[in-house]
Amino acid sequence: MKKDLPAAEGGKRTRKDFLLFAPPLIGKGEINEVVDTLKSGWLTSGPKAEKLESLFKKYVKSGFAVAVNSGTNALSLAVNSAGIAPGDEVITTPMTFSATANAIIHHGGKPVFVDIDVDSRNIRADLIERKITERTKAVLPVHFAGIPCDMDPIIETAKKHGLTVIEDAAHAIESKYRGRKIGSIGDITCFSFYATKNVTTGEGGMVTTNDPEMAETLRIRSIHGISKSAWKRYSAEGFKPYDTLYPGFKFNMTDIVASVGIHQLKSVEKNLKKREKLWKRYNSNLKGIDSVILPVEKLAYPFRHGRHLYTILIKPEMLKIDRNRFVNCLKDEGIGVGIQYTALNTHSVYQKMFGYRTGDFPGAEFVSERTISLPLTPKLTVGDVDDVCEAVAKLAAYYRR
Ligand SMILES: *Cc1c(COP(=O)(O)O)cnc(C)c1O
Repeated sequence: MKKDLPAAEGGKRTRKDFLLFAPPLIGKGEINEVVDTLKSGWLTSGPKAEKLESLFKKYVKSGFAVAVNSGTNALSLAVNSAGIAPGDEVITTPMTFSATANAIIHHGGKPVFVDIDVDSRNIRADLIERKITERTKAVLPVHFAGIPCDMDPIIETAKKHGLTVIEDAAHAIESKYRGRKIGSIGDITCFSFYATKNVTTGEGGMVTTNDPEMAETLRIRSIHGISKSAWKRYSAEGFKPYDTLYPGFKFNMTDIVASVGIHQLKSVEKNLKKREKLWKRYNSNLKGIDSVILPVEKLAYPFRHGRHLYTILIKPEMLKIDRNRFVNCLKDEGIGVGIQYTALNTHSVYQKMFGYRTGDFPGAEFVSERTISLPLTPKLTVGDVDDVCEAVAKLAAYYRR
């Protein structure tokens, strides 16, 4: 086979128009609902946010749902409501976005990293117990790319040591673990509606729980710490000043944002089917490339994949270029990609604050140096996926050792 010259070497680029990494699919429903809200006279948290909460809790089968303004603040609210205080430790994964660790640190906690299983990219449940100390208050697993963590052993360990289980489900709105929906399993689950996520509102998030007391705490702290009962008394019996019960946050979701979420959520299963089709196309197009490792489909436990990220690992030992150069070459081909993620123990702030070092977590760092997330949203066509694969194949062939 003739080795085509990559654009980075002066060859013709695969795509003339740059393919964005995660273009969202926004329909008439979203647009009309936003306009309706703008015309309604009520812009902040109100009936639309409440409607999104009720649709969301039904979808993920949780008892309660509290809409917030980002996935990061969903995590922050969960960590705070779980009672994490200065000096407390929270066990989590280094294979996640900075926001996961930052949310712990904002409340004075220390993120205690536990290495991952390379196949699933998820925290290794069997390594958690040895990291538990008298300061450990919670465990915060992240369901990477839509593959749920092995929740049964995580919850068993947490129960044994009295730890709260807070899940970062930013990638896992559609995911199921052993037939159970993510959002209905741990003590508190946090979702993100960021611009690149499966359900998007641009910025937004949701916190779910099955515990009515926790739900009340989350709700009160999400909006200044103001008592809801005081508000209720106000409407029923005339004016009573509200009480501030806690120095709470301003994390509430506006009705403008919720308007987008309502219609995104209505399309969630349809959009998953579209991504499943693109996923299969990626698998069949890329399976012959020996310097590329494809994502796993099966693990030791049954699960439903949320198919948030299609991440490949490149084998640098078989290529003349490293991952960063591979990514730059893909950009030159007109293909936008993501890196999920560089292991957090290699980031300077966590090294400075907690003494983490490069080399601490071999599993996470193996992924960190090799991973590339290819475009995967319902906006993409099969032709787009074919372009991405053509570019990957071209680079893998040209730079093969
Ligand atoms: C996106 C994301 C977040 C943060 O969510 P935002 O809505 O962007 O604040 C947290 N954790 C993970 C794993 C994410 O992917």
